[in-house]
Amino acid sequence: MAATDSWRDPDGFRAPAGEVHAWTPGTNQTLCGIPIKKAGLHRFSHVEWADAQPATGRDADRVTRVCHRCAAATGRRRDDKPWRRVDPRP
Ligand SMILES: [Zn+2]
Repeated sequence: MAATDSWRDPDGFRAPAGEVHAWTPGTNQTLCGIPIKKAGLHRFSHVEWADAQPATGRDADRVTRVCHRCAAATGRRRDDKPWRRVDPRP
């Protein structure tokens, strides 16, 4: 996942802050189509999307917003069929 900001908790763990987006390591944009580098987003390849949800996540202390498009794209429930973005491969 990726976020607009980052902070380090007292244990030195780099955690997401601000608005969070779903991002898969190896891709250059978020699930909702924001280019990571252009938008200056912080990447958190070590944090699961589920852990960055303010309601349930353990690494979401400073998360203030969840991108609703990414939330919809990842699915709210595990048994929901995940929506897949159709991207042409380079
Ligand atoms: Zn997003």
